[in-house]
Amino acid sequence: ETLDKGLEKSNTSFFSKLGKAVAGKSKVDDDVLDNLEEVLVSSDVGVDTTLKIIKRIEARVARDKYIGTDELNSILREEIAGLLSETNDADFFELQISTDKKPYVIMVVGVNGVGKTTTIGKLAHRFKKQGLKVVLGAADTFRAAAIDQLQVWADRVEVPIVKQQMGSDPASVAFDTLSSAVKQDADVVIIDTAGRLHNKVNLMNELTKVKRVMQKVVDNTPHEVLLVLDGSTGQNAFEQAKQFTKTTEVTSLAITKLDGTAKGGVVIGISDQFKIPVKYIGVGEGIEDLQVFNKHEFVDSFFK
Ligand code: GDP
Repeated sequence: ETLDKGLEKSNTSFFSKLGKAVAGKSKVDDDVLDNLEEVLVSSDVGVDTTLKIIKRIEARVARDKYIGTDELNSILREEIAGLLSETNDADFFELQISTDKKPYVIMVVGVNGVGKTTTIGKLAHRFKKQGLKVVLGAADTFRAAAIDQLQVWADRVEVPIVKQQMGSDPASVAFDTLSSAVKQDADVVIIDTAGRLHNKVNLMNELTKVKRVMQKVVDNTPHEVLLVLDGSTGQNAFEQAKQFTKTTEVTSLAITKLDGTAKGGVVIGISDQFKIPVKYIGVGEGIEDLQVFNKHEFVDSFFK
């Protein structure tokens, strides 16, 4: 898996902006730091994380007296890698399913349009390719289109889907899905949920109920609450992360659409601000365009 293809746009842009920020300068001074601040903010790293990076570099300049602009790249890479959190169990599924987590249950949350359904489809494909038995649950019963779209992906990947009609109780769909998965001796269950943030209390109650009902079938589920964010939406993605982490306990992140943006910096800011590991990144609309997040590859691609 190489990131080069998907992230080309972000790389060129960040790297060329960085080049301009230090053009004609041999040492890192206040001007360079001001320019760098602008580059980071305009790359969607977020103000708080940008200031944190700038402060750390300032401290290094103060300590070392002289830092050449030729060293800035490697210093930045170090600082950024230090802010990114990836997950240690990223290739959990490549190895084996631990017997105390079978079926392994992933509840997927996120607002409409961020690529939630697509990410579920890509994940199902990925797990299936690894020889795992996957079952999908269409617990976003709020929109008929959500159920239909998930069905399209289930057909495409050729995995079973459990659904009811629109408007039915999401918790009931989740219950049926887990029951069916247990009966089929499935390895992985992926549950889609509605993402109506405009009604936070309802959403919170709904997700809490879905969890409670799932636990009647499989203990300690969901094992994972995966929040899907659209990486091309900058501050909106930050805001959604803030709201969802208040609404439910998010354990991992998938950041989508990093192919179509010059602003991959959102990954850095969100990872730093929320301290939740980025597990997957979406780099296209195709079934294979989901990658396990690796921070060193990400940083490399950012600076290429
Ligand atoms: P949902 O409403 O959150 O379920 O969003 P969908 O999964 O239906 O995706 C919305 C749109 O985003 C679709 O056109 C997808 O093909 C597209 N999409 C999803 N993930 C990616 C990605 O990583 N890159 C790109 N370029 N498009 C994506």
